[in-house]
Amino acid sequence: MPSPSKPPASGTPKLTPPALHALLEEVQDALFVTDPDGRVLYMNPAAKTLYGFEDRVDADASTVNLRHHSDETFVFHTLAGVAVADEDRPVVRALRGEQYRDVELVVQRTGDADPRVYVFSGHRIEGDPPLSVLTVRDETDRWRAERRYRVVFEADPAPSVIVRLDDLHIVQANQGMTALTGFDVGELLDRSLTDLEPFRLNTDFGLAVERLRTGAYLHKVRMLVRTVDGSEIQVLLSARAIEVDGRACGLFTYIDVSDLETEQRLHQQTQTELNTSRREHADEKAELAYLAIFDPLTRIPNRRGLDVRLMDEADRAERYGNVFSILLLDLDRFKELNDTHGHDVGDEALRQVARVLQSAARGSDFVGRWGGEEFLVILPESGADAALESATRIRDRIDQADFAGVGHLTTSIGVATFEASDSIDRLFKRADRALYAAKERGRNRIEVAPRDADA
Ligand code: GH3
Ligand code: MG
Ligand code: MG
Repeated sequence: MPSPSKPPASGTPKLTPPALHALLEEVQDALFVTDPDGRVLYMNPAAKTLYGFEDRVDADASTVNLRHHSDETFVFHTLAGVAVADEDRPVVRALRGEQYRDVELVVQRTGDADPRVYVFSGHRIEGDPPLSVLTVRDETDRWRAERRYRVVFEADPAPSVIVRLDDLHIVQANQGMTALTGFDVGELLDRSLTDLEPFRLNTDFGLAVERLRTGAYLHKVRMLVRTVDGSEIQVLLSARAIEVDGRACGLFTYIDVSDLETEQRLHQQTQTELNTSRREHADEKAELAYLAIFDPLTRIPNRRGLDVRLMDEADRAERYGNVFSILLLDLDRFKELNDTHGHDVGDEALRQVARVLQSAARGSDFVGRWGGEEFLVILPESGADAALESATRIRDRIDQADFAGVGHLTTSIGVATFEASDSIDRLFKRADRALYAAKERGRNRIEVAPRDADA
């Protein structure tokens, strides 16, 4: 072919055969050109390196038959581990004149410890004879990285799926996902997230996908996932877009927070129950403490409350010679009142009597219900005269009061004063006798007990 005298008008440099040759020599992929029998007409340096021809041949590629060499040197498997039949070997297909692209195969070379992954493409250049072109690319590193990633991904206890963004089909799912949903990895694969019961609760997937497409991450979006047995799990979904086999995919990772939520709920519940029970317990204790010394009907101290105060007063009287008196009250003909008006009216009258007693007593006096329709008033710092005065005031106030549903009510009062080397027991006996006397002498009256020595 005559060389052009000048470059074309466009100025584009002409690719001369030497230039083309130089180019092929630089190509990273292995490139073989053979005749239909497999005799190598050309191979580039990358091809020599990949197939280990550097030592055996130099310039004379035609002494090499690629088919024989391939047969002797390699065992082929698909990535899925299926042995490749003889007629499907890459060289054989290329020699047959098949045009194919990017066939990934696991290649075990005799003598090598580990398999490698080569990507083959076959072409035919028509002519006489037709020429077969085989290109081979070593993708072992990528494949190993992917396999490592895959192993890590698949064993990852963090539930994850990789889905295609266009149709939400699951291309990968891991054991964590199986644990979360109860579905086998096989059941999850090649199904759409939106078809799968676990994810059907979430209608906002479309939104998530749009955000992923625009490059945004999803960070801990709260969602619900339903398991095979129908229970709902609270999860946080994080996702980012990744490319798998040239397709836009999303890596969806779920965090199961149901345990956390359950725990928190339980914790809260326990706290609430604890608080309630504490409060109830405190209430109970307070109530018990209250009931121990207060009378529930009249809300004034009961006999135990009165006892405590009496002991207190007796103690002070003995130690410091303080004087104090008691008024023992017994409502007159109270049985009649109950019989006439009923027990409830009687109760109300007792409450009202308690109020009258409290208002009639001085601030330092101590009023309590001794039992039944009997009341006791403790009068600190009061001798017999002062006690009589108080008793009179009290009797008069009750006598003058209008009792709801009853009208008139009276009380008899026995007055006794604590003496030197007295006892509460003796004090009470005197008060009792005085009260009996008051009843005997016509009721609605007061009797002051004579001193023990005088009795
Ligand atoms: P008197 O003291 O004047 O001799 O006559 P009385 O009728 O008050 O005498 P008694 O001690 O025999 O009766 C007391 C009555 O008080 C009997 C009981 O029905 C009534 N009583 C005692 N405790 C209560 C109570 O908590 N509520 C009511 N409604 N009645 C009570
Ligand atoms: Mg009585
Ligand atoms: Mg009575």
